[in-house]
Amino acid sequence: MAAASEAEIIAILGRFNRVRRDDVVQGIGDDAARVRPWQGMELALATDTLVKGVHFPEGTAPADVGWKSLAVNLSDLAATGAVPAWSLLALTLPEGDAEWVTGFAAGFAELAGEHEVALVGGDTTRGPLSVTVQVAGYVEPGRAMTRAGARPGDAVYVTGTLGDAAAGLAVVQGRLPGGSGSEPLRARLLRPRPRVEAGRRLGRLASACIDLSDGLVTDLEHLLVAGDCGAVVELDRLPASRALQSLVPDDVDRRRLQIAGDDYELCFTAPVAHDADIRALADELDLAITRVGEIRAGGGMAFTDGGRPADPPGRGWRHFGNGDA
Ligand code: ADP
Ligand code: MG
Repeated sequence: MAAASEAEIIAILGRFNRVRRDDVVQGIGDDAARVRPWQGMELALATDTLVKGVHFPEGTAPADVGWKSLAVNLSDLAATGAVPAWSLLALTLPEGDAEWVTGFAAGFAELAGEHEVALVGGDTTRGPLSVTVQVAGYVEPGRAMTRAGARPGDAVYVTGTLGDAAAGLAVVQGRLPGGSGSEPLRARLLRPRPRVEAGRRLGRLASACIDLSDGLVTDLEHLLVAGDCGAVVELDRLPASRALQSLVPDDVDRRRLQIAGDDYELCFTAPVAHDADIRALADELDLAITRVGEIRAGGGMAFTDGGRPADPPGRGWRHFGNGDA
């Protein structure tokens, strides 16, 4: 292992940061970064931490950690409808492992490049491996989505498919069989694609939005509490990828994975009158957007399967509390 000093680690991160933006006045290298935001725009800010063993399994490739540490943050901006612009990276490493940092920087930079996110600064410290990223992005005044705003009668939608990441984790941990059929599932776990463009375009269609980090049941509950309403979720409509359907054909087992979280899809509500526009957007983005339920007056969440009342499919991930995930 090539031991790297703090300065060398920062230099590696700086070298991979190839995004150049004209709203960055001062990037990496001084005490504080400075940006000159476009006039009249709101800034959306978010931060998220990944801890080894909690948010990614031991032995995860550094490039995948780099990608995911940015992806989970961009997903929060996507849920707001914001377009990402800048990031800060606080990296805590057990040792100055240049090879690890190079892999990490490559994965981070790959996703940053796709979304033109500039890395403008950060902090580098020694300790148990953990990665904190902050992001900022633009949103037009009046266009931001929030968790509040769902109204009785609104439809509930999710983007993409659900459950791949949880199945991917089960494969990595040996609880589900590996093999080539499971590769797309592992990819969804390690390289989630934040739905930035969908979020931006949903700003004028959705009444409320949240990203699915903790799982559909947990995250939709946040949206219901914020909107002071309830929902019926049609379990038989939860979208599953082909890979997940063939690896986990049993409905009950599959649905448990589909609410387990880590998918980083968007869950949003919208008035029924917007359904045609939402379908058109799905076509245009070549992204599945599936209607999975309806908002009801009164709190709580009910489930149906084939039109009949059904039990909840288990709980999503919880860091604190008595979740069974
Ligand atoms: P200070 O001691 O003044 O906080 P540092 O020596 O920690 O400054 O950092 C020097 C420069 O390198 C700063 O511009 C800082 O933002 C940047 N930097 C430090 N660590 C990182 C990192 N992990 N990612 C990106 N930039 C970093
Ligand atoms: Mg300083």
